Amino acid sequence: MPSLFSRFAELRSRRILERHPIPDAAWERAVADRPILRKLDADELRRLRALATVFLHDKTFHCVQGAEIDEDFTVAVAALGCLPVLELGLRWYSDWKTIIVAPDAYEITRSETDEAGVVHEYQDELGGEVLHIGPVVLSRTDADEAGRGDGYNVVVHELAHKIDGRSGSFDGCPPLPPDISLDEWRTAFSAAYDRMRAAPRRGRSGRIRIDSYAAFSPDEFFAVCVEYFFDNPVVLRGDFPDVYALLSRFFRQDPFARLSRR
Ligand SMILES: [Zn+2]
Repeated sequence: MPSLFSRFAELRSRRILERHPIPDAAWERAVADRPILRKLDADELRRLRALATVFLHDKTFHCVQGAEIDEDFTVAVAALGCLPVLELGLRWYSDWKTIIVAPDAYEITRSETDEAGVVHEYQDELGGEVLHIGPVVLSRTDADEAGRGDGYNVVVHELAHKIDGRSGSFDGCPPLPPDISLDEWRTAFSAAYDRMRAAPRRGRSGRIRIDSYAAFSPDEFFAVCVEYFFDNPVVLRGDFPDVYALLSRFFRQDPFARLSRR
């Protein structure tokens, strides 16, 4: 029997779906323009649209640096952003509210301390980021490129960080369901991450194909793997089959199988 809380959440969702529906034309454009969404079947698309509707109602978009957004953009972000939680539910996103949109990729200053204790500062270009407790930041230009099936998907990437952080730390290990043990997760991800770090740069034959940014840290490795899982599952499954299989159990989706559906 559903708890009082889930009953309340269901009633609330139903009310939002009735009062603030996503217009048909905007939804259809969001799906038509993004090959990874076109692979979903009718039932998955119906459920994704319901999640995206509630997502748009609950989240606030905030533009900075003169960024401009329209309904097509917010609907696309909602659709892509809800794809990872299609089978898990929106409670995974309940601890943040704001999406900040910058017009383009932007530079930040990072600092790193080396083994000798010397601090090095350098510029890094970002297409998005998440603030530990707080907003998700997206570059409009980069978000427009998400969902094309090439493995670059800043929306899924940043929301993967949010999912990771639900455990209380950003370490590449989200809270796990009962059927996946911490040991199993850490063993598969550590082995894959070690292989990623030892791999030569992209472009050489027979090498790892996912973006070399995944070698930056375990949390970036997780986010990049999730990005490829949904946006280019062929590449992730080829590079790291064990990680693909674990992510498939975690998200309860099989995007690789979806590709051969039609
Ligand atoms: Zn990241």
